[in-house]
Amino acid sequence: MAGTLYIVSTPIGNLEDITLRALRVLGEVDCICAEDTRTTRKLLAHYHIRNRLVSCHAYNIKQRIPQIISRLQQGERVALVSEAGTPGISDPGHALVMAAVREGIAVVPIPGPSAVIAALVASGLPTNRFVFEGFLPRKKGRQTKLLQLKDEPGTIVLYESPQRVRKTIEDIVNIFGNRYIVLARELTKRFEEFIRGYASDILQLLDEGEMKGEIVLLIAGTQFKPFT
Ligand code: SAM
Repeated sequence: MAGTLYIVSTPIGNLEDITLRALRVLGEVDCICAEDTRTTRKLLAHYHIRNRLVSCHAYNIKQRIPQIISRLQQGERVALVSEAGTPGISDPGHALVMAAVREGIAVVPIPGPSAVIAALVASGLPTNRFVFEGFLPRKKGRQTKLLQLKDEPGTIVLYESPQRVRKTIEDIVNIFGNRYIVLARELTKRFEEFIRGYASDILQLLDEGEMKGEIVLLIAGTQFKPFT
């Protein structure tokens, strides 16, 4: 009988953000495929879990997939974890899930943190409709993507790096106009911060100093009614 691939969400900063079920599964599976074995080792050590780790990241996933599928076909139970958050959300896990589904192997989600949802629910922007775009293309296709998003009625959620956030906000002002945006920074960590305001004001704020840490950028959609 084929085994099971568990897609296990892990913390995006605060180590307490892990479910009891995730801890149990991480302890019980035959092996854990980890995007970053150092981060996963720290998490496992924190919870006194010992298990075998196999590195599975963007640069080796093509070679790893057939090996992991073969283990699953022999009946093993395998957990997939990313560096942080939910595997497959803007990280390489998705390719393994696709391969498992193609082979008829059971895929079981073990839900938990993801920066997109944490940022959205505390942003104050509408949550009834949103689009998640992950990282914008850096060059080719960037302009086209932004033009496609311009008329989106729901909240737009992007992942962004501190080095590129200014450029992205400048592009928003140029293409969308002066939209209301929210920067959700260092979620669940010591310096967690939400910066809310119109794009041009946030650009001025960024003039005062470089932004550090991990960032989710949320853009109000066309249906957004400003706070009164
Ligand atoms: N799989 C992850 C998830 O479920 O959120 C996302 C992985 S993606 C490679 C990493 C990006 O997620 C970061 O560049 C940042 O945009 C966002 N991110 C991850 N952790 C975050 C945090 N604690 N605070 C803000 N953004 C975060």
